[in-house]
Amino acid sequence: VNCFFCKTEVKRTNADVRAVLCDRCVQRCLGAPEIKEPVKKVTYEEKKVRKAERLARKAGKLEKLKTATRGKGRGWHLKKLFHYEGTFYSFGEVIDAAQAERLKKELMKVEAVDPFKVKRGRGRPKKVVA
Ligand SMILES: [Zn+2]
Repeated sequence: VNCFFCKTEVKRTNADVRAVLCDRCVQRCLGAPEIKEPVKKVTYEEKKVRKAERLARKAGKLEKLKTATRGKGRGWHLKKLFHYEGTFYSFGEVIDAAQAERLKKELMKVEAVDPFKVKRGRGRPKKVVA
């Protein structure tokens, strides 16, 4: 059987083969192989530096994760007034700006109470005799 591209005879084929592409043509079709850059030798010192850098990066990432608040943060739905991305919430429900303003004033009043004047009982509350 002859190669269907360059018409040279290909000798080693099975009897039922109708068409063949010879090895030279296959090579020509593929083109030159890509030569990879040789692997750089890394010295012990360089390795040490890289490892330190990697560890530092990892630690930084972990620290970021620790301080990051996911979404609205923990317990946002328990707050009387909560602000997140331009929206006000009260106990997890969306409220408008006017309501938020009113709540803010209310909360300011509560916060204004002198903490030293508020007596806090210790331990169990005393029994009230009727
Ligand atoms: Zn050929």
